[in-house]
Parts: sequence; structure tokens; C-alpha cells
Amino acid sequence: MTIRFNVGAATDSGRVRDINQDAYVVKADAVAVADGMGGHRAGDVAARIAVETLDRSFTEPTFESLSGSFGLANAEILGRAAIDPELHGMGTTMCAVAIVQHEGATGLGVVNVGDSRVYRLGHGEFVQLTEDHSLVESMVREGRLTAAEAEVHPQRNIVTRALGANENVQVDQFFFPAIDGDRYLLCSDGLSNEVPDEALAQMMAKIADPNELVHALIDAANSSGGRDNITCVVLDVSTGESGTRPSSSAPVGVVTPASGTPESAPAPAREEAAPPPDPAVPPAPKRRWWRKG
Ligand code: MN
Repeated sequence: MTIRFNVGAATDSGRVRDINQDAYVVKADAVAVADGMGGHRAGDVAARIAVETLDRSFTEPTFESLSGSFGLANAEILGRAAIDPELHGMGTTMCAVAIVQHEGATGLGVVNVGDSRVYRLGHGEFVQLTEDHSLVESMVREGRLTAAEAEVHPQRNIVTRALGANENVQVDQFFFPAIDGDRYLLCSDGLSNEVPDEALAQMMAKIADPNELVHALIDAANSSGGRDNITCVVLDVSTGESGTRPSSSAPVGVVTPASGTPESAPAPAREEAAPPPDPAVPPAPKRRWWRKG
């Protein structure tokens, strides 16, 4: 089976911000979106380092290579921040979709850190595949906020995991079968905060051309306010074979930490996220939390 991608990609600074701290990369076998954070122009440096590192380092169709690229990007961002005071404290999210082999099968690997998202439209079903690493998402999981409250929460821009936050970054990994006709969307929160999922699903189903679609998605985010930078990558999967979707839409892969360097030995056990603070009390400033924008 030969898996091919047909990709549309675009980024826009939005209607409020002067600079664009998002970045994306499109390779023949991988795509990624990054949303940088940090003062001045540090955020766009971090996002650019992330996607350029993935571009350079994802060379083998394995999770080791894909997640290893995240680990290398993390180290590079920390290294640059350590020697340049203007870049101190920079960080970035990144989500990626790539062709990988996993347990003898070739399919799509999804790797994520932060609150950029990967969605999939397939056989009429539109699902968010990634979980946001954000304070409000933690509070929703704990039952302390409803999803509707989270959407408008003043602290919704605080991420709990990011590249550049500390030496050991943990990423989520998912593996999905490659299904002919499936359509993936990778986006920064400048899209998902402005455009409801139902509207995203409708546009994903209606607009056939991926290039036309990404521009329509950006227009929709700008029409809703465009308060943040907006980045969209749409990826249409073709395999030349009519695949059968497994009955469950759950990932068949695993959630594991990315090692700091690809060659380092056994990865540490996955840490549970720290419990969120009382929602009534603003969180104490902690290095591991990142306020974006
Ligand atoms: Mn953003």
C-alpha cells in the first residue's frame, strides 16, 4: 500500500496581532503546525525551530524518529534560549501527522504537545484526535469546568506542556490506519478558539480542494474576530485501496513520553499531570505553565 498526501496549508496573523508566531511545515510524508509563545519575537523563533527541526530530523518512518524530532526541537529551543536573553522563556506547541510503521503496520502517526489540534473527517465522522495540554482542559477532565465554560475561560490560553518548557518533554502519540479518503486537519488555537467544531466539520465536508479549504477556514476565523494567529494544514489521504475502518475510532497506538534525545535509552514512566489549582484562584506562576499571547 502506498500512502499519499494531498495537502493544503496556510497561515495568517489574524486581525489583531502584528506578528505571526505560528509556523508549519509540509513534507512528502509529514506535516506539522507549531504555535510559539514568548515575548517580543521569541515565540516565532521557537515555532520556527520546532518545524525546521522536524523537517530535518524526521527521516525514518517510525515513532522514534517522529517523536525524537520533538525531543530534538525541545533541546534546540532550550539551548537557544539559554544563550540569548531576548529568547529566554520562549516555547511552542507542535502537532504532527506523518506516515509511520507501528507494530508491523504502516499508517498515520499523530504526535502532539500543547494545544494545537489534530482533527479527522472520515466516513462522515469529525473527531478531535488530540487532547489539549491546557489548564482548562485539565479542569474539564476533573469535572471542574464544563466544555462550554472552558471555551470562554479567561485562562484558556495557559498550556501545561510545551516544547522549551523543561528538559524532559512528554508528547502524546497515536497511531491510526491509513484510510483512503480520510481528511486530517491540523490547526493552531487561533482557528479552534474562533470557529466551533460543527462549523469546522461542515467546511471540511463541503470544500473539496484542500488549498481552497485552508483559506476558507482562515477567513472564518478572521470573520469571528481573528484575535490570534491562525494556521491550518489540511491533509487528504489516498492509498489507492478501499480500506475498512476498524469499528472503534479510538487510537490503536499508545501514549508515551518522548525521550529527550532519540538515542537515549528507556523512556521514563509517564507522569500524571499535576492537579489543576482551584479554579477560583489564579495559578501561581510556575515554569511549567505557559501563558500564550
Ligand atoms: Mn495561538
